[in-house]
Amino acid sequence: MNSIAQIAAQLQGYDPQALRAADVNEFLSRLVEPVSQIESVAIIDALDRVLAADLISPISVPPHDNSAMDGYAFDGDQLRADAALALQVVGTALAGKAWQGSVGAGQCVKIMTGAIMPAGLDTVVPQEFTQVQADGRIVIPVGVLKAGDNRRFMGEDLMQGKSALRSGERLTPAACGLVASLGLGTVQVVRRLRVAYFSTGDEILSLGQPPREGAVYDSNRYTVLGMLGRMGCEVIDLGVVPDQPQLLEAAFREAASKADAIITSGGVSVGEADYTKAMMKQLGDVAFWKIAMRPGRPMAVGRIGSSILFGLPGNPVAVMVTFFAFVRPALLRMMGSTASAPPLLKARSQEAIRKKAGRTEYQRGLVSTAADGSLKVRTTGNQGSGVLSSMVQANGLIVLHHEQGNIAVGDEVDVMMFDGVV
Ligand code: AMP
Ligand code: MG
Repeated sequence: MNSIAQIAAQLQGYDPQALRAADVNEFLSRLVEPVSQIESVAIIDALDRVLAADLISPISVPPHDNSAMDGYAFDGDQLRADAALALQVVGTALAGKAWQGSVGAGQCVKIMTGAIMPAGLDTVVPQEFTQVQADGRIVIPVGVLKAGDNRRFMGEDLMQGKSALRSGERLTPAACGLVASLGLGTVQVVRRLRVAYFSTGDEILSLGQPPREGAVYDSNRYTVLGMLGRMGCEVIDLGVVPDQPQLLEAAFREAASKADAIITSGGVSVGEADYTKAMMKQLGDVAFWKIAMRPGRPMAVGRIGSSILFGLPGNPVAVMVTFFAFVRPALLRMMGSTASAPPLLKARSQEAIRKKAGRTEYQRGLVSTAADGSLKVRTTGNQGSGVLSSMVQANGLIVLHHEQGNIAVGDEVDVMMFDGVV
């Protein structure tokens, strides 16, 4: 387990007062480790969980060569480039009820999708390609088919004894279906990550409290809990903690005793008069960063006990952006996920954007498809770090990289799509 100072020493040019966004991810990947406990869950409960071991196929899927179409199965060697093929129908193969007889030259078997291919046959002509002759034989016109068409091979999806899913893969709906196709009712997954959250600040009102001058309602709790919920974390919600040392200490101690990770919002910026930073420093091994980014900038990271601490800024959009860009990848790693970062998409900016080189800027963007099929993006209005309405309208973040300068209309920019997370 590396201390903050040890990790800092490993990173070239580490400057906590002007940290690049990319260095934040690098630092966090060295700070966090996957949880090691494993549990067995039923497939029905496995959605979004992370697989704890490679899954080896106990059977092949499909278990036999079978037909991909409703039609007629025959030996494809009989197809000619210059002549139609007439075949006598000698039987029927149903899905779940195989044809057992033998099939000779000039013969075929009527076959349904999924039915086992009769022995010796390798080709299926779809019903709609055929005509029926007066003598009852079916006719396959020239050029509609080649030998081997419309046959699915045994094990073409999953082969018995081979790896079907890798440890660290998240169980998407497709992956759950794949596990079920192997006849498996349960899977081994990494236990859920426990994440504690509280908002700090004397000006923060909980819902239900009457408004008062200078105070704002706690929105961060709902954005963070929502994003954690969508990641499949087990959330320990500690509400709003007022700026009193005893209460902050109690909250941090409770969080550290229960959670793998602690997320807080507020109280980490430079000018903070409150006790949050002091308490983090007192209880843990914590770095206080100024990140070269917008929105965001202040962030505290470290350990309290054996829990990882993410002290996010207070501004509602800064919370969401730092969560999405930094905390989420770190939590995924803690969850045992081996997923790589989602790809950045390229979109043409529909507007000029002012950008200062020397920091990473995240603009709330709405990506859509242009008339020529390429992607275009516009910002969603007021980009103030407290403005949630422009966050709501966005479907992704425009990432203006550290070295990048002003953007002109039509310039290509990178976009990080929310993809159901934000
Ligand atoms: P701070 O980082 O504590 O200086 O907070 C920056 C700004 O974010 C201030 O305007 C706070 O009022 C606001 N803020 C802090 N915490 C929250 C919260 N939980 N919900 C909504 N706004 C907040
Ligand atoms: Mg504050």
